[in-house]
Amino acid sequence: MTATLMTDTKVERESTASASACPLCGGVPVRLFEKQGHGIARCEDCGHRFAQIAVSDDHVESVYGDDYFLGGGDGYSDYLSESRLLRSHGRRYGELLKHFAPAGELLDVGAAAGFILQGLRDTGWHADGLEPNDRMAAFAREQSGLTVHTGSLETFETNRTFDAISMIQVVAHFVDPREAFARVADLLNPGGVCIIETWNVASWTARMFGKSWHEYSPPSVLHWFTPERLADLLAEFGLHQVARGRPSKWINAGHAASLLQHKLNHNTVTRWLSKPLGLLPEHLALPYFGDDLFWGVYRKGQ
Ligand SMILES: [Zn+2]
Repeated sequence: MTATLMTDTKVERESTASASACPLCGGVPVRLFEKQGHGIARCEDCGHRFAQIAVSDDHVESVYGDDYFLGGGDGYSDYLSESRLLRSHGRRYGELLKHFAPAGELLDVGAAAGFILQGLRDTGWHADGLEPNDRMAAFAREQSGLTVHTGSLETFETNRTFDAISMIQVVAHFVDPREAFARVADLLNPGGVCIIETWNVASWTARMFGKSWHEYSPPSVLHWFTPERLADLLAEFGLHQVARGRPSKWINAGHAASLLQHKLNHNTVTRWLSKPLGLLPEHLALPYFGDDLFWGVYRKGQ
């Protein structure tokens, strides 16, 4: 058994020797498995896990079209129905951020329809958003009167700088995290903070589910960080971790059932779990009890 595994690993290494290098450190990738037709690799040098995908020029537009938010599956079964939960999630992060910086100018990256952004504003932040999906950004502008620019962090043109930048479930989707974090560092004022919420590939939940873990969903998700690797990477851009924790998050029953049915339908346990979930009212709020989500706050040096 052991001998077979070693042989397989050697074969995999040889077959991927010419595959693209680690996007964080340039190290050598080892292909771990395939998911949804895409290779998932681990960097030999820094341990980062990433999707081996040749990203097209229209990647952001094609992945975050309307289907991502409204079609179920990898995105949200009905993002708009989660508005109340997302707004309170934004409030919690707005309050949290005030422990590290006085409420001032904030940019919410990946603002979608602006619900988290509204929660951030509720707590006193002067918050604007940035969102690649124009329909979502337009909804935020027209229905909620928010300032949400259509576009990505990499293409955002502004002369403004910010006291805080929030990236709630965004960094795993960046095509080039180094380019994105360099931009974050540029946009932050000295002493400013960024808050990131993302998934922890080193969590027990991720390890237990293995390749069935719901966050292994390329091509929308491209990176799987550990809190430590993320902190090390941000430090390279002068953004130093000042706090870290696990969010208390609520999701609605419809979203939970959709995620389970879409991503884990080959797993007996989750098939069994998703049946009772499907019987619950779609908008019932359920606590998210996995240990696979974390947040960190990172401050730009003075
Ligand atoms: Zn690496």
